[in-house]
Amino acid sequence: MNDWITSWIYFETLKPKAMEEYFVTRVGFCMKCRKADRPKTGDEFIAFGSTSKQFLEKEAQHNGLAGLTPHTYKIFTKDGKIWVQSACAMNHCGVGYYEDEKGVKHWAMYEKSWSKPREISKADLRALIDFKDTGYQI
Ligand SMILES: [Zn+2]
Repeated sequence: MNDWITSWIYFETLKPKAMEEYFVTRVGFCMKCRKADRPKTGDEFIAFGSTSKQFLEKEAQHNGLAGLTPHTYKIFTKDGKIWVQSACAMNHCGVGYYEDEKGVKHWAMYEKSWSKPREISKADLRALIDFKDTGYQI
């Protein structure tokens, strides 16, 4: 294993804990992707499937507005409050993968790509969950 892998969180181990932690994939703004002119058709990203309850590999179906990319939002409760953290879900940005000897991709999230946790109101949380951009076909 390479050293850089130790700073990645593997999606195999990143499972939501019932009622304590919840993931959704929604569009967010990423300056790094804006500079790199992402997303483009065929760019890979990771989306959390609301039905499958796991992270799935996806591809952008069309060129998007530069910087507006799929983001993973982690929602959790702490001290009786609701908190959210987000991270860009584009390959070569907030996530990446390596292929093992069998050609199986192992996706991981770069730990440092998470934003600082911020408190979110129940109304804003509802708006975040209800807002679905079907352009990415998540
Ligand atoms: Zn990005």
